[in-house]
Amino acid sequence: MRGALGGPRVLLRRLREVMAEPVSAQERLDKIVVMIAANMVAEVCSVYVLRVDGSLELYATEGLSREAVHQTVLGAGEGLVGLVATEAQALNLPDAQAHPAFSYKPETGEEIYHSFLGVPVLRAGNTLGVLVVQNRAHRTYSEEEVEALQTTAMVLAEMIASGELEALARPGAEPAVRRAVQVKGLALAEGIGLGRVVLHEPRVYVKNFIADDIQNELKRLDQAIDTLRASIDVMLEEEGMARAGEHRDVLEAYRMFAHDRGWLHKLREAVMTGLTAEAAAERVQSDTRARMMRQTDPYLRERLHDLEDLTNRLLRELLGYDQAPRRDETPENAVIVARNMSPAALLDFDRSRLRGLVLEEGAATSHVAIVARALGIATVGQVENAASLADSGDAIIVDGDTGEVHIRPPAGIEASYIEKVRLRARKQAQYAALRDMPAVSKDGQAVQLLINAGLLVDLPHLKETGADGIGLFRTELQFMVAATLPRTGEQLRLYRSVLDAADGRPVTFRTLDIGGDKVLPYMRALEEENPALGWRAIRVSLDRPALLRIQLRALLHAAAGRELRLMFPMVSEVGEFDRARKVVERELTHLRRHGHRLPDRVHIGAMVEVPALLFMLDEILERADFLSVGSNDLVQFLFAADRGNVRVAGRFDALSAPILRALKAVADAGKRHSKPVTLCGELASRPLEAMALLALGYRMLSVSAPAIGPIKAMLIQLDIGAAEKLLLPLLSERAGDVPIRERLEAFAAKCGVPV
Ligand code: PEP
Ligand code: MG
Repeated sequence: MRGALGGPRVLLRRLREVMAEPVSAQERLDKIVVMIAANMVAEVCSVYVLRVDGSLELYATEGLSREAVHQTVLGAGEGLVGLVATEAQALNLPDAQAHPAFSYKPETGEEIYHSFLGVPVLRAGNTLGVLVVQNRAHRTYSEEEVEALQTTAMVLAEMIASGELEALARPGAEPAVRRAVQVKGLALAEGIGLGRVVLHEPRVYVKNFIADDIQNELKRLDQAIDTLRASIDVMLEEEGMARAGEHRDVLEAYRMFAHDRGWLHKLREAVMTGLTAEAAAERVQSDTRARMMRQTDPYLRERLHDLEDLTNRLLRELLGYDQAPRRDETPENAVIVARNMSPAALLDFDRSRLRGLVLEEGAATSHVAIVARALGIATVGQVENAASLADSGDAIIVDGDTGEVHIRPPAGIEASYIEKVRLRARKQAQYAALRDMPAVSKDGQAVQLLINAGLLVDLPHLKETGADGIGLFRTELQFMVAATLPRTGEQLRLYRSVLDAADGRPVTFRTLDIGGDKVLPYMRALEEENPALGWRAIRVSLDRPALLRIQLRALLHAAAGRELRLMFPMVSEVGEFDRARKVVERELTHLRRHGHRLPDRVHIGAMVEVPALLFMLDEILERADFLSVGSNDLVQFLFAADRGNVRVAGRFDALSAPILRALKAVADAGKRHSKPVTLCGELASRPLEAMALLALGYRMLSVSAPAIGPIKAMLIQLDIGAAEKLLLPLLSERAGDVPIRERLEAFAAKCGVPV
C-alpha cells in the first residue's frame, strides 16, 4: 500500500460523485467504504457512528462480515475504535491485537487483520464517529495515508451531521450529533433562561469540500491570509486597542499565529490533498479543537483557543461572512453562547429578547458577568467547549442558580424547567406586591434597603424594587465597560442621570475602585504577585490624583444643588482617608472660586474592607461622615481566602464568630459616634445573612436589586429583638463551639421567617 491508489485527490473527486447520487443513505455509505478501501489498498474499511448513548455502532464495512453491520456495537471507550473516539486522535498500529485496548468482536471476523488505522470523524471539534482501515499484513500506515483518511472523514462528518443517517437508526440509538447534552459550569448571574442558541461568533460551516482547481484554491488561501493579517494589524493599531474588548495580548497572539509557518504549512498541505481553501481551514481547525480538548495546561489551552479563533476568522474571510449580529437581528428568546465576550458586545444585543448567556470562560468578577447581572440575564460561565457543543437555533436551558446548562434538552427536562420558571414568576409577583410596603420589621424597626448599582441599565431597578436609594454605586463599571477612558463629560452625564433617577433618594458614589481583578482594557495591567493586595482602589487614586480629580469634578458638578455622598474604597489607614478628603476639599474650593454651583452638602465616607481599619474604628469615625462595610473584600482578607477562587471562596462560613464579631464591632462603633454604617457586600443580599446583620445592629443594607424582594419578605416577618437575643450570646461563646448558621436557620424556621 505504498501511496494510495490515485491519492486523496482522486478519492475526493469520487466521493463528491457518490454524495450527489440519488441513492439511499445505506447504499451511499456502502459505496463510500468500498471506494476508500480500494483507494487506500486496504482490505477493510469500516464506518462506526457515535450514538446518543455514547456507544459506537458499525454502520458500513467493506471487508468485515456484512452481518455485523448495525449489529456490532462498542460501548463508550471500548476497544480501539472507542479509544479513537474518546481521544479524538488517529491511532496507527502495525499489530492491533497486541494493543491492550483491543476488543474482539467475533461476528466481524476481524481476527485475521493485523494493521489498523482509525481516525475520528470530527465536526467542529466534536467526535461523530470513527473511520477505520485494516490490512492483514503487519504495517504502519504512512503519514500521507493518515492525512488522506482524515480528509475523507470530513466528508463523512458532513453526511452524519446532515441527519441522513437517522433513518437507519433504532429509536434511542440515533447518531449522537443532535444528542441532548447536560453540562455544568459556574453560576454567574441568577435566573433561568429558556430559549434558542445564538452563537456570538456564528460558526462557519463548509459545504464545498473538494477543490476544482488546486492552484486557484492556494491563491484564495494566500489572499485570505493577507487580508486577515492586515485586519489584525489594523485592530492592533486602533486607538485604545480595545475594540470590542479584544485585549492586546489576544491580538498579539493572533498576529503571531497568523505568521506562524507551521499553521500556514498545514493549511497549504491540506489544500494540496485536494480540499478547497475553506475545507482546509476547517480541517486544521478540527485538529486544533481536538488538541485543545486534550490539553490540560491552561496556558496552552488558551493559546489553542486563540488559534481556533484565528482559523474561524480565516474561514469567515474565505466565505465572505459578515461579523457580529446586529441589535435588531437578535432573535426572540435568545441565549447567547460564546467563548467569551466583552460587556460592550453583550450590550449590543436587544435586552428584551435575551434570555441567557453561556460562556466557556468568565469568572464571577468578569466584566461581562457584572453586566449580565445588571441586565438580569441568567448566566453560566466556565462551560467547557460550550460553543462547539451548541449550534445556532438549538433549544437550550441556562440555569443561573445551579450552573447547569442543557443543550437540546429532552422533553422531560424542559417541562420541569418550564414549571420552575412559572414558580419563579409567581414568587417575583409576591415580591412585587411588597414593593410599596415600608421596610419595617415585625417589631417595628425601620430598615433602609438600598441597591447596589453601577451602570445606566441598573437605574430602572430603583423604581422596580421600591428601594430607598443606591447604597453603593460602583463608578468603575463605567470605566470597565468602555473602550476608552470616559471623559469628564461622559462621567458627568452618567452621574447626573443616576441622581435624576434617584429623584431625591440617597446615592452613595464610590470613587474608582480599579486594580486587583478590576482591569481597565485600555490601561496596561500591572504584573503583580498578589493583585488583590496590590495597587488598587484608593491607592491608585492617591498615586494618580489627576484621575481622582477628574472624577470628583464630574461628581461635584452632577450634584450641584443636591446632596452628594462619596466614599473611598479599600481605606487601610486614616492617613489615606485624610489625603483623599483633602483632594475633595481642594476641588470644592476650586469650583467655588470659579463661581460654579456646588452640592448642598457633601458627605464623605470610608469603606471598611481592610482588616486594619477594624482596629482604628474610632479614629476613622472621627473623620468620616459614614462607613460602609465591603464584606466581599473584608471577608476575603479576614479569612485570607481569595473571593474569586472557587477552590477557597466557599470554604469558610461568614456566619461564624470571627466575622460576626468583626461586623458587630463596626456597627457598635458607628452607634458610639452616631454615624451611619451600611453593609454593601454580597452578604447582605442573602436573607439568612441579612437577618444576622440586622441582629448585629445594621439598619442600612445595600443589596443587589433582585435581592430586595426576598430581603424585604424576610424583614417584615422578623422580630429583630428576638434575633438579637439569640445571636449576641452566641458570639460570646468559644468560637467554633456552636454552629451559628444552624442556630439561625432553626430560629428562622421556628419563627416563620422566610430565609
Ligand atoms: C465589597 O468588597 O464588599 C464591595 C462591596 O466592593 P466590591 O465587591 O466592588 O469589591
Ligand atoms: Mg470591595
